[in-house]
Amino acid sequence: MRLGVEAALVDGLLIRGDVEIVDGRVTAVGLSGPNGRGIAAPGFVDMQVNGFGGVDFLETDEDGYRRAGEALLETGVTSFLPTLITAPEDDLLAALAEVPRDSTGPRILGVHLEGPFLAARRLGMHRAAGRRDPDAALLERLLAAGSVRMMTLAPELPGALDLIDDLVARGVTVSCGHSDATAEQATAAFDRGARMVTHLFNAMRPFNHREPGMAGAALVRDDVFVEIILDGIHLAPATAALVWRAAAGRVALVTDAVAAASADGGSYSLGSVELQVQDGAVRAPEGMLAGSLLTMIEAVRNLHELGASLEDALSAASAVPARALGLPDVGRLGIGLPADVVVLDDSLKIESVFVGGEARVVA
Ligand code: ZN
Repeated sequence: MRLGVEAALVDGLLIRGDVEIVDGRVTAVGLSGPNGRGIAAPGFVDMQVNGFGGVDFLETDEDGYRRAGEALLETGVTSFLPTLITAPEDDLLAALAEVPRDSTGPRILGVHLEGPFLAARRLGMHRAAGRRDPDAALLERLLAAGSVRMMTLAPELPGALDLIDDLVARGVTVSCGHSDATAEQATAAFDRGARMVTHLFNAMRPFNHREPGMAGAALVRDDVFVEIILDGIHLAPATAALVWRAAAGRVALVTDAVAAASADGGSYSLGSVELQVQDGAVRAPEGMLAGSLLTMIEAVRNLHELGASLEDALSAASAVPARALGLPDVGRLGIGLPADVVVLDDSLKIESVFVGGEARVVA
């Protein structure tokens, strides 16, 4: 099968010509052919998505995953990490057990546990009742309950560095976030193998010229990836531009979406918290931001508008997050790789989406 495209994004470069898919894998790129239209890019990889299409991953089942998956596909996502925020242990164990092993929609790469080992001062909308100091036995129970691919923790907490050692040894990507860490404390975590920062600048010690905090430490560190929620709400435009100028190539777009994203009105919750949606922002009753309504394709458009090249904006939603997760076969379009592809028109609207070479969305 040929995609009929004009060009394809292959390892960060736009290669003119069509793409061929055989048995679910890309077998050729750069093929000449008549009237190619649109660009084939790697399907998007969202590392932080709490819920989607009316579904909250903390409180759903197989059918919910199916519905959320369909809605995610519509936005170009072909792989994702269902993200579970801080919650009481029993709730987390139950939610981990509900994650399907075989997804019929986008690939589920494993769970992102955002908590519960977070800083009390930087919880944002996470509920304090579920927060814990690092606890190796609790971590063990969580890891045993499901497939955990990534964990966000606050590295300045007592025992956090030992937890990082443990997670790194098991191949779980450690991201620092919801943290009051100083730059020095963040650097210590990066030295121990933490490779990412969760929603940079949000829910962390603010940057200060004498104490640049985790954000400053991460931006000058070439081996650390930074996640941003590029919805025009979580970061001021100049902050987003600053991040891009400092860290292009290691900026990973995430949505941090909640159930209300790509859903039809109505009332939604994130764990035990009732969400309020107004003017495009999602807030907890106390007023703080509680995730977003962002989609990956919107984040890509926003990054491109910010000045990133099309190639770089698309990579920030695909190859970069996959690299951050240490998954070389994900988030790339290339010969021999699974054909997880999003086809976009000139205005970056989604034309079609393929998972393993199978057309899942056709405009
Ligand atoms: Zn968060």
